[in-house]
Amino acid sequence: MITIGIPRALLYYQYYPMWKTFFEELGVGVVISPPTTQDILSAGSLRVVADTCLPTKVFLGHVLALVEKCDYIFIPAIRSVERKVYSCSKFLGLPDMTRAVIPESPPILDIDIDINKGKRNLYQAIYKLGRHFTWDPLRVKQAGTAAWQTHLSYKQLMHDRGLTPPQAIDRISVVSSDEPTIQHNDSAAERATIAIIGHPYLLYDEYINHRLVHRLEQAGYKVLTPEMLTIEQLKAGAVRLVGQAYWAYEEEVVGAGQHYLESSTDGVIGIMTFGCAPDSLMIDMVHRQAARMETTPFMSLTLEEHSAEAGIITRLEAFLDMIQRKKRKQVEVCV
Ligand code: SF4
Repeated sequence: MITIGIPRALLYYQYYPMWKTFFEELGVGVVISPPTTQDILSAGSLRVVADTCLPTKVFLGHVLALVEKCDYIFIPAIRSVERKVYSCSKFLGLPDMTRAVIPESPPILDIDIDINKGKRNLYQAIYKLGRHFTWDPLRVKQAGTAAWQTHLSYKQLMHDRGLTPPQAIDRISVVSSDEPTIQHNDSAAERATIAIIGHPYLLYDEYINHRLVHRLEQAGYKVLTPEMLTIEQLKAGAVRLVGQAYWAYEEEVVGAGQHYLESSTDGVIGIMTFGCAPDSLMIDMVHRQAARMETTPFMSLTLEEHSAEAGIITRLEAFLDMIQRKKRKQVEVCV
């Protein structure tokens, strides 16, 4: 069986179930790189200049982890998935950059996605990708339709059940045309809540964020994420704070930030990475809004290659202490 490798980084958290369904429908085996480790990060870092952003270094490390493990590697070049909303330049050049810095990579299958060029262009790109595995256009069409259904179910699952992408990927059974298997997870409804906002590859890569979600859950908090909101809630939040979004992920960062600041969330944490221009603007806008509103505590955490775990834990503990003090004060006032 032909196998295709998918790096567990960058767009993986958003699109993995969809891509997996597409390739499996075409009879292709899917191989994912293992979770991030120091070795993966170091290997990726060695291939690029120091000031490249952390998620790109991690991505290249994952590609290296797939060398000799698969026949092809899938790396799409995503310019835009929403009209007049653009990805950062790293996403556009990802296949070419990978070919340049990892010459030993298995052949890279890329696909240009730019919704601004119209649906016809998108369909042609999907057919071009599918033709690597079949000459039957109907089969490619069916694989594309099944993949899109899986993507919708995946998003619905995260929203309906309050799951993070890794939790949803664990719970969704993405096998041919079977309906995704859904398990319920409503036990945490009464806990105090912390919202985390940022790019999915920062929020859910446990190695680079030092197991932030796990630590919050261990401390007894219910963690809220951008994926748990509807598209409409994200868009409305972004419009209230900045108007029309320009960057990909602006709605997930700014829109979710505004939504959670306005809701009864106990605290909001913005995660950003050193060397990311869009992040430095988006997280700052939410930070300023939190300062203006003075209702919900906000903390930003900047991750980089050398972020010390102890530093992250100390800041997290101080933030959670502050939230507890605030809650105790509110109770005293009510009494
Ligand atoms: S948006 Fe920022 S973190 Fe993401 S790939 Fe671009 S520069 Fe890197």
